[in-house]
Amino acid sequence: MSTAAALPLTGLIPSKVLAELDLGGATLTTVSDGSLVLPGSFIFDPMPKDELAEVLSPYDVSMDRLTPECNLALYRDGTNTVLFDVGSGPDFMPTAGSVQDSLDALGLSASDITHVLFTHAHPDHIWGLLDEFDEPVFSDATYMMGRREWDYWWDDSTVDTIGEARAAFAVGAKRRMEMIEDQIEFIDDGDEVLPGIVAVETAGHTPGHMSFEIRNGSQAALIAGDAIGNHHVAFRKPEWLSGSDQDLDMAAATRTQLFDRIMADNLHLIGFHLPNGGIGRVERHEGAYLFVQE
Ligand SMILES: [Zn+2]
Repeated sequence: MSTAAALPLTGLIPSKVLAELDLGGATLTTVSDGSLVLPGSFIFDPMPKDELAEVLSPYDVSMDRLTPECNLALYRDGTNTVLFDVGSGPDFMPTAGSVQDSLDALGLSASDITHVLFTHAHPDHIWGLLDEFDEPVFSDATYMMGRREWDYWWDDSTVDTIGEARAAFAVGAKRRMEMIEDQIEFIDDGDEVLPGIVAVETAGHTPGHMSFEIRNGSQAALIAGDAIGNHHVAFRKPEWLSGSDQDLDMAAATRTQLFDRIMADNLHLIGFHLPNGGIGRVERHEGAYLFVQE
């Protein structure tokens, strides 16, 4: 049973804006950056295949190919216009990198963004700092990233230690981080980074992955980035290891703790790769969880 009917929607929602939530007078929207095309093995590899088939059976999804949405959260409180991550840009995948069109649909341009808060430095989250001419896109914004995340990708040895499959991630992240080196503000777990926005370290997917809890009045939401990544499996089997995570065990522990927090604090959940705009509620279901869209 969807809870969407109980939520006040704020105004007309253009087609590229997939979901919107009124948060104590502020507006939390997701804007599409397109989608990714991934081999199923990227996520499913470590999972028990016989049980996985049963977990996937309610969905029209193949074990061979996944096409997760990329939804950037946009928070507007009347003073700040905050974008969480910047998307893929033109250089990662042809199916992604369209966030500027989605901002256009809202009547916003890149220069209207006052703050960019990064969850982590994977390509689909940070490569959008550069456009097709290698020019900076959100150049008027203040950038914030977890100190641990920054240090990991900044380290010159990461390209050699991360493994061949992700070496390009390290090169691509460093190139873009060098561009914002003089503007970055480092944040740590528990910091109130902007009024009502608190950083929550959720390491595992990457070494310094950061989520953000936004609280305004009696309403609160968690921007979870990729800490809760694949909706087909993560809700039903949060403890399963996922191939998309860098530290598989730590990511599974983080995911389980996040679900506890979401339930205990009655948070809306915003996930970067969750379906249909990525805003929803979490409900308990058959000993695990269910993502209920709003
Ligand atoms: Zn991602």
